[in-house]
Amino acid sequence: MSGIVVLGSANMDLVVYVAHAPKHGETVTGREFRTIPGGKGANQAVAAARAGGEVAMIGAVGADEYGELLRHTLEASGVDTDLLRTDEGASGTAHIVVDDQGRNAIVVIPGANGTVSGLGPGDETVIAAADALLLQLELPLSAVLEGAEAARRHSVRTVLTPAPAQPLPPELLAAVDLLVPNEHEAATLTGIAAPRGAAEALLRQVPEVVITMGAAGSLYAARDAAPVTVTAPRVSAVDTTGAGDTYVGALTVALCEGRPMPEAMRWASAAAALCVRRPGASTSMPYRTEIEVR
Ligand code: ADP
Repeated sequence: MSGIVVLGSANMDLVVYVAHAPKHGETVTGREFRTIPGGKGANQAVAAARAGGEVAMIGAVGADEYGELLRHTLEASGVDTDLLRTDEGASGTAHIVVDDQGRNAIVVIPGANGTVSGLGPGDETVIAAADALLLQLELPLSAVLEGAEAARRHSVRTVLTPAPAQPLPPELLAAVDLLVPNEHEAATLTGIAAPRGAAEALLRQVPEVVITMGAAGSLYAARDAAPVTVTAPRVSAVDTTGAGDTYVGALTVALCEGRPMPEAMRWASAAAALCVRRPGASTSMPYRTEIEVR
C-alpha cells in the first residue's frame, strides 16, 4: 500500500435546499437541511483511502459533535486520524444555501482548521515516512508551507490542489512537485483562460501540472515531456461535488504505485466519473474494487 499523508481541512457542510436564496431582511422556508462531512483535506483523505492508499490525516476538528462525526467519517473509510487534533473550540463549518437552479452561496467558518498554523509534534516524522503529501489551501498558509517544506526535506512527493484559488507565495510553489488545479483555479493563478496556456505558465513555477476540466477531462503538462490529454468517461452527472478531490486522491494512489502518469490519469478519471454519478461528496467516492478503466 502507498503511504499518503493529507495535511488539510475537515469541515461539516451544513446545507439548506431552498427555491430561492433569501435577500437581505427576507425570511424564506426551505425544503431540506443536510449535514455532510466535507472539507477538501478530509475529502481527499477519504478518496485516497477508498482508492487503496494507506492514508493518515493531519489537521484539526473541534471538541463538538461535528468533530466526532468528522473523525468517524474518516476512520470509517480507513483513514488514520491519530494526528488529527481536537481543538477545544468549534469544528470548521461551511454554511451552504443551494437554490432550485443549483446555484450556491457559501459562508465558511474555519473553526478548528484555523488553529492549524504549523506542524505539530510527530507530524514531520509521519510525513518523512510517506510516499506523498497532499495539500490544499483551506488551512492557514503557514501550515501548508511548513508541510511542503518538510516533504521537500525528506524527498516526499508533494501534490497541491490550489483551492480556494489565491495568489501563492513562490516559496510554496518551489516546494511542490505536482500542482492539480481545476481550469478555473488555473486561470485565476495565471490570468490565462485556456488550460494549455495556463499549464505552460504554471510550469515556470512547478515541474508538473495536471489541470482538471470537468466533463472535458484532464490535461497533464511537464517541463520535460509532451502534454497529455485524457478524456473523462461520458456519464450522466448527478452531483459533481467532490469530483476534483476524488480525482486527486485516486491519481496520487496510482502514482505512488509507480503507474505512469497517463495510466494514473485514466484511473483517476474513472474514479471521479463514479463520484459524479452519485449524490454527495465523500459518500459518493468509489472504493478501489469499483474503479475500472473502460
Ligand atoms: P473540481 O471538482 O475541483 O471543480 P473538475 O470539475 O475539473 O474539478 O472535475 C475533476 C475531474 O472529475 C475531471 O477532470 C473529470 O475527470 C471528472 N469529472 C468532473 N465532472 C465530470 C462529468 N460531468 N463527467 C465525467 N467526469 C467528470
